[in-house]
Amino acid sequence: MPTLTEKATIKTLTTHYIDGAFIESHGREVMDIIKPTNGQMIARVTLADEQDARRAIAAAKRAFGSFGRTTKEERAKILRRLHEVVSAHIDDLTAAMVEEYGGTIGFSRILMEGAANVFLSAEKALQELPLTRSWGKTTVTLEPVGVAGLITPWNANSFFLSAKLASAVAAGCTTVIKPSELSPLQTRVWLECLDEAELPNGLCNVVAGRGDVVGAELVRNPDVAKISFTGSVGVGQTIMRDGAATMKRVTLELGGKSPNILLDDADLDKAIPTALAIAFMNSGQACVAGTRLLVPKTRFDEVKRAILAAMHAFPAGDPADPKTAVGPMVTQKQYERVQSYIRKGIEEGAQLLVGGEGHPKGLEEGYFVKPTVFVNVTNDMTIAREEIFGPVLCVITYGSDDDAIEIANDTIYGLHAYVSGTDLQRARRVASHLLVGRVAVNGMLDDQQAPFGGFKHSGVGREFGTFGIEAFLEPRAILES
Ligand code: NAD
Repeated sequence: MPTLTEKATIKTLTTHYIDGAFIESHGREVMDIIKPTNGQMIARVTLADEQDARRAIAAAKRAFGSFGRTTKEERAKILRRLHEVVSAHIDDLTAAMVEEYGGTIGFSRILMEGAANVFLSAEKALQELPLTRSWGKTTVTLEPVGVAGLITPWNANSFFLSAKLASAVAAGCTTVIKPSELSPLQTRVWLECLDEAELPNGLCNVVAGRGDVVGAELVRNPDVAKISFTGSVGVGQTIMRDGAATMKRVTLELGGKSPNILLDDADLDKAIPTALAIAFMNSGQACVAGTRLLVPKTRFDEVKRAILAAMHAFPAGDPADPKTAVGPMVTQKQYERVQSYIRKGIEEGAQLLVGGEGHPKGLEEGYFVKPTVFVNVTNDMTIAREEIFGPVLCVITYGSDDDAIEIANDTIYGLHAYVSGTDLQRARRVASHLLVGRVAVNGMLDDQQAPFGGFKHSGVGREFGTFGIEAFLEPRAILES
């Protein structure tokens, strides 16, 4: 079992998971993990270095020799086993996300249930995906691409670990995982699940280290065929550029500035609480957060009143309290970043309807920010263009439906969008003009079989369902005379 020793309340982690075992880190750098609700140190973690990463890659390469040849049924069995072990630890995974990251307990639980279900979703997709197609004397088989490097961010670490691993395993790839360095406790709980699953040695190796050390090694190492990355646009660009030298296949899930269009026939009693939930989900630290609320000019006053009336349901507070809707930001740095955007919004002439700078009253200790809504925002303001990654909603008015579509598409991003309206045909028409990977109509919706990913700067490629598995496959055609 892992080295997880408790010293007072400070945990110490010194191992990585390589070739089916927890082994001591070769890397010596130690990082303090700070609890976002009170700024106290809760863990000290020894980070992996390039040598740890290379050891993990070698293990994955050895394991690929046999795992790359497994049948659908063998992979399906592993996916079902992973579902079982992750399902059995949803409480532990949720508790770790609340403690280490400050995720609200309600949201964290939903996400961890998703982290368990994603293995069954991948199994279903695998069963539906033909891995062999033939016509005449030509046969095409979809082959696993090889060793896959999976890199995750801190805002939903264990969910992304599960989602990426599920698609990679379904495809027959072995993996080296680099979780966010800010999520070691969550990763450890997840890893204990994996250890229980008794996977083939080397199928799943986990090395927790810095992005520019371990992540960079995965990107440049010729024995890694594919990188599946979720994170910021800047790092995504680095991966695409540096991966070119070894012709990496890449899936990049990057940022967003998602529009939420309220059509003029929307039922505000439903649409406004939903819009706030979409904006403040995961305390605003969500790539799919609907952070630009586009409202018809004719209903602007009504919308403002509806927002003010609904805000009581979105209190900031202790993430372990089920009534809390907005927890702290993950780090002091992220807190400062959100504050700087709120200041920028005020400087550029947007008007605060709710919230503003500083800590919410009574929450001065941790990295809490006030859930904030700006009105009189124009789409050229910095707060409407850049991803804030905090609970800050921009309300922008529009004239016609076409005007709304134009504003929605006037962004470098294209990850997600939302449309609300009573006339479904009209909502569908608007949805079909949005340059994004996913549009949710009348709600905050998910479907683990539907492709997920971005147009434009929001990324390259898709995850989930058959689309996600195909991202780890290469077609090989055999032509006979
Ligand atoms: P980040 O880009 O800073 O880091 C993401 C991961 O990349 C981390 O594990 C980090 O260590 C690693 N990394 C850093 N430098 C690297 C390098 N040179 N080579 C390889 N790996 C490297 O992102 P973050 O701050 O952890 O997360 C927030 C960002 O993630 C936001 O921009 C958000 O929109 C994005 N995000 C996107 C999605 C999506 O599915 N599209 C989901 C969640 C978050």
